[in-house]
Amino acid sequence: MSGSPAVIIRLLASAHTVAEKAGAIVRRVLHSGELGIVEKTGANDLQTLADRLAQQSICASLSRRFPQITIIGEEELPAEDIGEDLIETGQQEEILLKTCPAEYRGVKEEELVVWVDPLDGTKEYTEASRCLKHRTEAQNHHKVSGVSQAPSTAMWLLDNVTVLIGIAYGGRAIAGVINQPFYNYQLGEGADLGRTMWGMLGLGAFGFQLREVPGDRRIITTTRSHSNKLVTDCVDAMEPHEVIRVGGAGNKIIQLVEGKATAYVFASPGCKKWDTCAPEAILHAVGGKLTNIFGNPYHYDAKVKHMNSAGVLATLCNHEYYVSRVPPSVMQALKSD
Ligand code: AMP
Ligand code: MG
Ligand code: MG
Repeated sequence: MSGSPAVIIRLLASAHTVAEKAGAIVRRVLHSGELGIVEKTGANDLQTLADRLAQQSICASLSRRFPQITIIGEEELPAEDIGEDLIETGQQEEILLKTCPAEYRGVKEEELVVWVDPLDGTKEYTEASRCLKHRTEAQNHHKVSGVSQAPSTAMWLLDNVTVLIGIAYGGRAIAGVINQPFYNYQLGEGADLGRTMWGMLGLGAFGFQLREVPGDRRIITTTRSHSNKLVTDCVDAMEPHEVIRVGGAGNKIIQLVEGKATAYVFASPGCKKWDTCAPEAILHAVGGKLTNIFGNPYHYDAKVKHMNSAGVLATLCNHEYYVSRVPPSVMQALKSD
């Protein structure tokens, strides 16, 4: 095939490298130890320097190359000049070589909406940072006193953190990129950290090995830091064999596609369009489904309400089972939107 790749393919190829750069920013801020935490609506709704810098980097990089695209980022930031060091101009070659599915070949820049969550799982990011600081202090103490102290081990929280760039067309999430900045953190100092997963409807999803939970076990993944009675009532009604509580919408979708969980259940408002757009596109690209808890799809046009008020239900398969188990009290409280 000759000529320039379709706009959506070029955007996806840019979003891939832009998400990698954002992931590097997220790592750098963590290691600096200076998180610059700001409470947005409260103690469980935080913003850090990493959220701010990563969003500036993503939005400025994409809008420079694709000026007609609508980009909606989570963080409200003052308009200011972005340093050139935050601009990423690369494009992932492998994506550029993909053949665009026919239905998206003619899509124009101005018809695309990009939803950006520069750092998903901020609460867990700040907790992991505290854990790292304690560990360093304990190690220093150990060196000075010779007394052995077990380091605190909340490092697994690092894998709750992702960078999410979702691409919508005609109100549907059609493509997305998830960067997991601390992937492979277990390998310790000097390891090459991070990975990038991406997907597009009609093309499939890449950067991970698709797996299903073996057997008939129902394993529900849900929020760790935003739970309430609605959330737990709904999870209980689904009669899970196991419940996993972790941070991040991106992280929970990774658990679904890597065979760690069968359903992501969050029967509460709180999650926003930037949390679900990229994860939904990747999940749908491999045949899964993300909806509100009534089983109805969300829409991602530029003008939609940001809040996913009717909760989130995502599965790789058996979506109907989970929809059928949502209790009337939860349905009454969340009302479909
Ligand atoms: P969680 O599973 O709790 O990590 O939530 C997934 C995403 O939704 C994260 O980006 C959270 O910040 C966001 N979220 C969920 N519930 C709330 C809430 N009550 N307030 C603010 N953000 C929330
Ligand atoms: Mg988020
Ligand atoms: Mg965020």
